[in-house]
Amino acid sequence: FLPLSTFITTVEQSPIAISITDKKAKILYVNQAFTDITGYQAEDVLGENESMLSDKSTPRQVYYDLWHTISRKQVWQGQLVNRRKFGQRYLADLTIAPMLDEQGNISHYIGMHRDITDAQ
Ligand code: FAD
Repeated sequence: FLPLSTFITTVEQSPIAISITDKKAKILYVNQAFTDITGYQAEDVLGENESMLSDKSTPRQVYYDLWHTISRKQVWQGQLVNRRKFGQRYLADLTIAPMLDEQGNISHYIGMHRDITDAQ
């Protein structure tokens, strides 16, 4: 068995931006790659909604589809335009997975994204 600290280090050092939120997308945790991509330190974003990353140019239908999917305990994957701390836009390839508690209810969401601006 791996020690618990190894799982924590794995998340912290993952090269994909990882955030953990409550059921309303309030940010509870971000890893180092999240800071590297967005420019936000943990203390900038903890307690804020993930919508703080939104560039507001993404069609509302994308967000509707996202919430429609994840609130049904399914994984959503898509692309949207985000904005870094200092204003620069980037294209994010985002996957959101619901985390379920022992009763099978959604307890948290995990967001994982990469900057794919240069891959276009
Ligand atoms: P909002 O008012 O937040 O929502 C727009 C629409 O989404 C609403 O009309 C409604 O249909 C639906 N909606 C919003 N909240 C809920 C809810 N709690 N339950 C059901 N439906 C709801 N957004 C980004 O732009 N970039 C990201 O990188 C990003 N990462 C996310 C990661 C996670 C783990 C989660 C859970 C969400 C993420 N979001 C991200 C979505 C974000 O929380 C916002 O919903 C989105 O940015 C739109 O924000 P808004 O203020 O424009 O509109």
